[in-house]
Amino acid sequence: MNLPDGERLPFADLSPGSDAAEIREAIERVLTRGWFVLGPEVEAFEAEFAAASGAKHAVGVANGTDAIALALRAAGVNPGDEVIVPAMTAAFTALAVVAAGAIPVMADVDPRTLTLDARACAEAITPRTRAIVPVHLYGQAADMLEIMTVADRHRLVVIEDCCQAHLGTCSGLPVGTIGAAGAFSFYPTKNLGALGDGGAVLTSDGALADRVRLLRNGGQTNRNMHAVAGVNSRLDELQAAILRVKLPNLPPETALRRLHAAFYRDALTGEVTPVAERDPGHVYHLFPVRSARREALQAHLARAGVETLIHYPIPLHKQPAFAHLAPRECPVAAKAAAELLSLPLHARLHARQAARVADVIQAFEKGSIDA
Ligand SMILES: *Cc1c(COP(=O)(O)O)cnc(C)c1O
Repeated sequence: MNLPDGERLPFADLSPGSDAAEIREAIERVLTRGWFVLGPEVEAFEAEFAAASGAKHAVGVANGTDAIALALRAAGVNPGDEVIVPAMTAAFTALAVVAAGAIPVMADVDPRTLTLDARACAEAITPRTRAIVPVHLYGQAADMLEIMTVADRHRLVVIEDCCQAHLGTCSGLPVGTIGAAGAFSFYPTKNLGALGDGGAVLTSDGALADRVRLLRNGGQTNRNMHAVAGVNSRLDELQAAILRVKLPNLPPETALRRLHAAFYRDALTGEVTPVAERDPGHVYHLFPVRSARREALQAHLARAGVETLIHYPIPLHKQPAFAHLAPRECPVAAKAAAELLSLPLHARLHARQAARVADVIQAFEKGSIDA
């Protein structure tokens, strides 16, 4: 093992932070109240998250995948409809389309930003297409101006996958407020993370918000009266109370993520190249770089104690789960999948740790350590 300063740098840090005491108080408050599902904490968090995100309504659900699926259903996507998704994203984007009973259709991504390519999206439209789910990948908004133009021309619903882009903007507009709704995840590693699963649908359409509220609670209009076949997908009181502690810290944490990203960008000007920043509203959930020698780079960083991950090694059109859909080739996503490597980047990273990561990568480029 070759650890330059004897320190291992894990990819993420989910150990108790400076908010731990406040989180314990929030848990105690819920415990004492004895109300655990769809209560005052969820209601308060929904209002606070909607306000912070620039929309009228937020509806808490069990996870980000359900947020996408329920937003699609609430927006009128029906079983058998086609929904266009980018080929480079977490598979959960497409699994949510399947959960809504619809058919995910993969389209290729922009070679610089790796977000949904509007032209590829337009080419994937058929008479059965009903919706588009652009993904604000790694924290950067997809090109919503162009995607909304395509959607409006073909009268398609747009549900934004904001699971990696809390507080992100696109040309100054908050993500999740440009399409009919935005879907957020509060999985622990996301920019806003619970101590378990959680999610929310963001929208300024009151009728759509009401339909998501109905669907998340079994489709019940009254107790034991199920108007539609909904699901059980509720954000619980404990997670909502915890998220209420974490939400006010999100703006300063986002600023720190941007600082680390700017440092990496300045430092990495060689063969190992960061994915492009097209919009300063990027919130840097992840910081992927590309290298034609990705496996060697990852091994080199591992030997130096730096943990990295790959987002994502298998593009959606190559996933066995979707093979029966005979997806079209998406060469840009396929090439990226072979080159991407995500560096450690989070609000608790120290500047000297980021500097060390950059040093280790520069040494790799110079070939000064066995690569
Ligand atoms: C995390 C994530 C999801 C799924 O969210 P869960 O809360 O894990 O269900 C969907 N899409 C993207 C882009 C994600 O990063």
